[in-house]
Amino acid sequence: MIEVKNLVKRYGSHTAVDHLSFTVEKGQIYGFLGPNGAGKSTTMNIMTGYLAPTEGEVRINGIDLLEEPDEAKKYIGYLPEMPPLYPEMTVWEYMEFCAELKKIPRKKRREEILSAMELTKLEDRKNSLIRNLSKGYKQRVGLAQAVLGLPEIIILDEPTVGLDPMQIIEIRDLIRSLAKNHTILLSSHILSEVSAVCDKIMIISQGKLVANDTPQRLEQTMKGVATLNLEIRADKKAVQRQLQSIRGIRHLSVKEGEEEGTVFVTIEEEGEEDIREALFYACANAKMPILSMQSVKATLEDVFLELTSETKKEDQRVEESPQEASPEEFKETEAMEEEEDVRDL
Ligand code: ADP
Ligand code: MG
Repeated sequence: MIEVKNLVKRYGSHTAVDHLSFTVEKGQIYGFLGPNGAGKSTTMNIMTGYLAPTEGEVRINGIDLLEEPDEAKKYIGYLPEMPPLYPEMTVWEYMEFCAELKKIPRKKRREEILSAMELTKLEDRKNSLIRNLSKGYKQRVGLAQAVLGLPEIIILDEPTVGLDPMQIIEIRDLIRSLAKNHTILLSSHILSEVSAVCDKIMIISQGKLVANDTPQRLEQTMKGVATLNLEIRADKKAVQRQLQSIRGIRHLSVKEGEEEGTVFVTIEEEGEEDIREALFYACANAKMPILSMQSVKATLEDVFLELTSETKKEDQRVEESPQEASPEEFKETEAMEEEEDVRDL
């Protein structure tokens, strides 16, 4: 079990990890999800003892990582974002080298290396030079050193980045098979990656934890928030006055429509109740014709975008790969800024 409490990491004036707290329970797969620059690698480097935090505490099975790093690190296998592979070594030589670093007793070494290679399906590449391996196999070597000695907790930083779809499926299967006997924490900036294998998702944005739940519950929470988009022929003030009294509206925004004399209304619904009929009668009674009405349900993808998009713009200054942001996301942000009349009900 891992307990992270109030973890902070500052690089100069930039806060890469901002008071993160969470626990990782035994025997589950945890996904650390967030856009590039969110602070995933920094957090993982701290949790594995490779980087000192500015503030905060990490306990591995009750052992304080900062006070007893060697003892705490025994429980952890780590695949960093860029694993330090030695291209001139064969796979076997590299694994022996890692076994020595991990202080695996000499007598057990052969057996442990063989079992790590079996798990990662590397047996047939035992004598290949690492330099000559494909990207997928190199990644497996990185994984093999992480699982070597069968540590209780395995931490994988973007384990499928740069792999082709077939290799991604293989690595996913491998991760699932490891989960039978290990606790796994993996990171990714791709939602589908995490929702496909993880029992729990922690969404991190600008160094902060913005969600921590099962994929199903995250989706459900957001599904509760259905959005209605309406085009109404009326003026803004009248629409606001009429719709104000309707129950079940969490948030209402009204802006000028494309056509003159029309408005575009976005309504966030509250609870399960269907308010479409109430909207219809309210508008009809007030002689405000509804020109169109659409119901939009949130997906897990929306949860992720919503939770991570607000901080995105600010992060541009320090963002290393701004191309990761989807165009829709920016469109949405711009549209929101144009809005003149937004009220919270
Ligand atoms: P992620 O793994 O989620 O993409 P990182 O943990 O690598 O994010 O980075 C978090 C933030 O910290 C980014 O804004 C990044 O630019 C910054 N950062 C990471 N490492 C350093 C460093 N050694 N010096 C200065 N800034 C850094
Ligand atoms: Mg990273």
